[in-house]
Amino acid sequence: MSKSHSNIITCKAAVCWGVGESVKVEEIQVEPPKTSEVRVKVLYASLCHTDILFGKGIPIPIFPRVLGHEGVGVVESVGEEVADLKEGDLVIPTYIGECKDCENCLSGKTNLCLKFPLPISGLMRDDTSRMSVRGQKLYHAFTCSTWSEYTVVNANYVVKIDSTIPLPHASFLSCGFSTGFGAAWKGAGVEKGSSVAVLGLGAVGLGVIEGARTQGATKIIGIDKNGGKKRKGEAFGMTDFINPEEYDHKSVSEMVKELTGGMGVDYCFECTGVARLANEALLATKMGKGQAMVIGAGTHANVEISCVALMLGGALKGSIFGGLKAKTDLPVIVDKCKNKEIQLDELLSHEVPLQDIDKAFVLLKNPDCVKVLIKL
Ligand SMILES: [Zn+2]
Ligand SMILES: [Zn+2]
Repeated sequence: MSKSHSNIITCKAAVCWGVGESVKVEEIQVEPPKTSEVRVKVLYASLCHTDILFGKGIPIPIFPRVLGHEGVGVVESVGEEVADLKEGDLVIPTYIGECKDCENCLSGKTNLCLKFPLPISGLMRDDTSRMSVRGQKLYHAFTCSTWSEYTVVNANYVVKIDSTIPLPHASFLSCGFSTGFGAAWKGAGVEKGSSVAVLGLGAVGLGVIEGARTQGATKIIGIDKNGGKKRKGEAFGMTDFINPEEYDHKSVSEMVKELTGGMGVDYCFECTGVARLANEALLATKMGKGQAMVIGAGTHANVEISCVALMLGGALKGSIFGGLKAKTDLPVIVDKCKNKEIQLDELLSHEVPLQDIDKAFVLLKNPDCVKVLIKL
């Protein structure tokens, strides 16, 4: 059994103090891990749009909070009951638990474990926090809180990975890119020779393109209002590009149908988080057998859905983290990356040190930006 450290660590972390406030780098205290937890020294993190939602108080306004849910680090200490992780392991903290025993885990149909659910409360499983600032409790982000030099995560959400993978790539695989890749690979199960459309070419959309390409899709249409994303999409295997700004009075689904001889695509992935585009994704798919997948995190708005498209056999589905089971599936993607079956260099557009993390938010608005890497 690995020894557990009992010391409290003082370190730097990016704290968001309230709705809409920019993050501030503070000196915080991080407690040792409890029995089924590990404390991780974070090496690299990255910025994902969900962090921006957290900062806006979506889905729940809990502050002050240490944001960040993408990252990679090394296990610094482990709780007494942790059996599958030890000090020094290279790990990715995730928000998808996996007990391999509950109804959902056994079903093979979903990655949403019932025993270790999506941790949205901002607290650990015993409803307490492991982080504080000047004596005040800090909320975690999905219990990942990777924008901290040290973080504590329940071991059931922590994935051990091959230590030879480039660390920036590992950080990108911890959420956005894998969400897209997994949605094409596991979530939809894109088949060889099929056609795919992708709405939004951020890290999630580029992940879909890479997933569709490796599954053997022959037509991969990328759609983005930013013309600069064309080159990025092509680097991952996109075959056609639509910039909706260049079409007057045409809906996204009409543009996709125009490019596919009126048929639509086998699979359409909504990666922008714009709720109303879920219906456009559905309408862009083939009659009788098309499948639309909503995977972009956005607001919690309700949308109108075409019942006719559903009646005609269209399917509308969604997933979190691309339907991937973190412990089972993420190491497979890491290995594909290590073996250069998938290439992630094109994702990295900017890098900032933790103390300049406010700049990461500005950089993300830059049209050329795909991922901002944060060095801890
Ligand atoms: Zn389970
Ligand atoms: Zn994310």
